[in-house]
Amino acid sequence: MSDAAVPLSAPQKALRKLGLVRDIDLALHLPLRYEDETRIVRLTDARHGEVVQVEGEVTHQEVVYRPRRQLLVTLNDGSDSAVLRFFNFYPSQQKQMAVGTRVRARGELRGGLAGLTLMHPTVRAAGGTLPEALTPVYPTVAALPQAYLRKAVLAGLAGAELSETIAPAFLNEIADLSAWDLRRALTFLHRPTPDVSLAQLEDHSHPAWQRLKTEELLAQQLSQLQSRRARERLRAPPLQAGPDGLPGRLLAVLPFQLTSAQQRVAQEIGHDIGRTQPMHRLLQGDVGSGKTVVAALAATTAIDAGWQCALMAPTEILAEQHFAKLVDWLAPLLAPLGKRVAWLTGSQKKKQRTEMLAAIESGQAALVVGTHAIIQSQVRFQRLGLALIDEQHRFGVEQRLELRRKLQGDAAPSGGSEPCSGGAWGSATLEPHLLMMSATPIPRTLAMSYYADLEVSTIDELPPGRTPVVTKLVAAHRRAEVIERIAAQIAQGRQVYWVCPLIEESEALDLRNATETHAELGSALPGQEIGLLHSRLPPAEKKEVMQRFVGGELPVLVSTTVIEVGVDVPNASLMVIEHAERFGLSQLHQLRGRVGRGTAASACVLLYSPPEGGRLGETARARLKAMVETNDGFEIARRDLEIRGPGEFLGARQSGAALLRFADLAQDAPLLEWARRVAPRLLDEAAPLAQRHVDRWLGGRADYLKA
Ligand code: ADP
Ligand code: MG
Repeated sequence: MSDAAVPLSAPQKALRKLGLVRDIDLALHLPLRYEDETRIVRLTDARHGEVVQVEGEVTHQEVVYRPRRQLLVTLNDGSDSAVLRFFNFYPSQQKQMAVGTRVRARGELRGGLAGLTLMHPTVRAAGGTLPEALTPVYPTVAALPQAYLRKAVLAGLAGAELSETIAPAFLNEIADLSAWDLRRALTFLHRPTPDVSLAQLEDHSHPAWQRLKTEELLAQQLSQLQSRRARERLRAPPLQAGPDGLPGRLLAVLPFQLTSAQQRVAQEIGHDIGRTQPMHRLLQGDVGSGKTVVAALAATTAIDAGWQCALMAPTEILAEQHFAKLVDWLAPLLAPLGKRVAWLTGSQKKKQRTEMLAAIESGQAALVVGTHAIIQSQVRFQRLGLALIDEQHRFGVEQRLELRRKLQGDAAPSGGSEPCSGGAWGSATLEPHLLMMSATPIPRTLAMSYYADLEVSTIDELPPGRTPVVTKLVAAHRRAEVIERIAAQIAQGRQVYWVCPLIEESEALDLRNATETHAELGSALPGQEIGLLHSRLPPAEKKEVMQRFVGGELPVLVSTTVIEVGVDVPNASLMVIEHAERFGLSQLHQLRGRVGRGTAASACVLLYSPPEGGRLGETARARLKAMVETNDGFEIARRDLEIRGPGEFLGARQSGAALLRFADLAQDAPLLEWARRVAPRLLDEAAPLAQRHVDRWLGGRADYLKA
């Protein structure tokens, strides 16, 4: 390509890096703020603390050395004088501001005993025309000067194809935005007239902003709807159990009855996987609500229908737990059929792995449990009918897509994107049904926007007999009392988790901390064996420690956050989290969910230590407060979203590049409702326009929304 021959300049490279490639990308790169260079004020009229532009004659110039080297230039505009103060300056500037010249200076005006000062103002020669529009200041990087970026943006705006894609009939349903078509809105936002209310620009309530947000939300809804419809055209194997089939036999051997919520979601899932369209469903339910058994029921349905099922979990420990439980439940049912449960992780011995791979390829492995090792290319399923992903938020979009591709095995073109976006789907291509599980429920606004393409089943009831976990905040200096409490729990035959702080900067520190706590508890609790679990342990040792804790041999388990998800030890009744202020809210809630799984009264102690001499930060306090106030996973998720905002909440990996840039779900719910309403009609009545709209807004990123 000719592109490769011409080396890019530094600003050009920076543009690419910022994703500002197409005209439309540039046109949609909006200013952070504006500077008003349209008028010149008199010094006597100017307000202190504001950025002002003044023009006058230089009456004095000197370099002083106290308290540090600086250039002081006095400027008189006829109404008053002010000192322009520069700490870094060049000889050329001294020349530019020689005594007697007239200059225009712009900067923040400060009052004070010594008179008026402008700190580090920008200075140019006086005279010259004043701009008619506010000057935009764009988000940028060092290699990309504002002036260059401004020109590029204006060129992009001029070149971009911005014809109307939304018929007025639709627009009028939301507000009268048809007067503000996209071109007018963008032109205005890049070059607003000085009479505009800056407040309206800042809080994004100006019609130009409303129009932009409306368009963005519509693009998102359209794209989700397109992928939903594309999926409806895909085919999946209909999975139905025969009479007296495996699901019924599983229910018969379970030591408990399903809750009515479990029954309901199992039915929803059963209905979906019985269809010839691939299921795309999220099963959400608080920690401990019993998602695993619901997944197992779906798996037995698939197996009964003659298909394979895969269960992927984010960590080895969790995969291991699932494996143990599912083998327990299913192995006796599968054995008479000549089938088994297989196990696949990265740390597996080669011999075992080869054996598992063969069982998967031959179809003998009816259920495969593992980590992301499952999606590696050597793994070939004979016929994968159902894919289950536990703790789905821990996986990236790519990994989910990869699992869905597994049904086609290696026969599918590996370079292609997901089946439903390409032209490859047709009667020949089957997709597995997909069930994702999560203990972090998706708040409603997010479900409506980012996950509009997803069906959601919710387990909103805990199995009977659980006692709610009592959560206590304890300052770190009361650590000794906490250790006494541990002793009391052990005396009652209960078990305890102690989770060590997350030290992001250093895995080594992390480790030292866990090791020290381990030793400390060892000497404080003589005669008790304390387990230690951290990420550096070889998998075999991790497994052993975990097994001994599960088996009740270890009364206390000190751990870094490797136990975060899914671990199930009903006898554990106390969870201590050290430096709880460093954890995220969902993470704290997940950790707390490790206790209160049995019938014993359980507690969660959040040890916190404010930074030396200070107090906890505001968000840390909000998180800890939420933990004490509620045990409800939905409420926790809602507050987490409030504290972090959707970008952080979803995580970059989750959302791909498709996060909303302009719309704010908390503020723009009415616009979102509108977009949801009109998207299907637009797609039905004006498909080419709808497509143009999606391309314009999402470019190559639309795929990410479909995973
Ligand atoms: P999660 O939804 O967090 O994945 P699990 O599936 O691990 O929860 O279930 C938590 C515990 O509750 C497990 O020990 C499981 O066997 C048990 N359990 C699940 N459903 C029921 C039920 N209906 N009655 C009693 N115990 C149940
Ligand atoms: Mg689970």
